Amino acid sequence: MSIFLSTDLKYLQPYVPGEQPQDRRYIKLNTNESPFPPAPGAVVAAAEQAANLNLYSDPTCLPLKRAAADVYGLAPENVMAGNGSDENLAHIFRAFLTDKGIAFPDITYGFYPVLCSLLGIAHKVVPLRADFSIAVGDYKDVDCPVCIANPNAQTGIYLPPAEVQRLIEQSASRLVIVDEAYIDFGGQSCAPLVNKYKNLIVVQTMSKSRSLAGARVGFAFACAELIADLEAVRASFNPYNINRMSMAAAAASLSDSGYFADCTKKIQLVRQYTAINLNELGFEVLPSMSNFLLARHPAKGGEELYLALKERGILVRHFGDERIKDYIRVSIGTREQMDAFLGAVRAVIAEDV
Ligand SMILES: *Cc1c(COP(=O)(O)O)cnc(C)c1O
Repeated sequence: MSIFLSTDLKYLQPYVPGEQPQDRRYIKLNTNESPFPPAPGAVVAAAEQAANLNLYSDPTCLPLKRAAADVYGLAPENVMAGNGSDENLAHIFRAFLTDKGIAFPDITYGFYPVLCSLLGIAHKVVPLRADFSIAVGDYKDVDCPVCIANPNAQTGIYLPPAEVQRLIEQSASRLVIVDEAYIDFGGQSCAPLVNKYKNLIVVQTMSKSRSLAGARVGFAFACAELIADLEAVRASFNPYNINRMSMAAAAASLSDSGYFADCTKKIQLVRQYTAINLNELGFEVLPSMSNFLLARHPAKGGEELYLALKERGILVRHFGDERIKDYIRVSIGTREQMDAFLGAVRAVIAEDV
């Protein structure tokens, strides 16, 4: 730490992303990326824009906003586009939380507490129930804004829209942020509700279901008043926040609903196949509506499994949090990748008998 660092950042604990190791080839099942390439039209559109990189990108982002809004029958005024949903989350936290604080579950996306420490936002943790579900009633007396991921990060557990609406309706003067990074793998989005509820912001990303993690594009959906506030923050931070290649790739991807439906359907089928096989190997698997599974084995600790699989060229994610330290999180890849994963798991478990 240099002597020049601002004192309020002395204890900043930066977000630790899943490994992206370069030392050898792994079957990467650790960061919930898509195993499929971007939509063909997205690759072409990005390549075309490479020749125009001498020019700034469109600061209004209007064609991309329109394409995202169309998916849910909304207007461009209901959308902000960001350099990944992480950037949108930062703008939301900056715009609406610095004087109010925020509440979120104990087990969820690790970026929320990091943003709080970066921006000096007080946060309150509401524990998930013993079965790792979100109980909406637990938020009844929470008077600061609430953020949930749905399906939830690390667990994959889905909260049905009726429950999300109950959460939103607990107080019209309390903001609710719903992070739908994993909604396209079988869930139903709450984005169409943003005009009904003026206290709702829905956050989505193209990183997982749209195979564009490397492009960095995400969206925030909300009523026009909330989006106007957010756009003011965005324009004050980085008005050209999405580069030309990513903007073109994202718009092209949104126009190819067939490819999207095909990829997300495949992930759901392979998820079911993987869960059944893990069950047969003695694992307890949480019910997931996302593109990953959180699972634990009675005879092998989470870290032990993670390390043994890594040795065999398979990367999964292990979290040190007390409540989930016995688990591994495995992203859903192709059927072939999951067969390789299941084969390695079988071998690791057999070592002990
Ligand atoms: C992956 C993820 C994000 C971040 O998405 P980017 O668009 O890649 O920044 C946000 N929230 C949750 C819950 C995620 O899992």
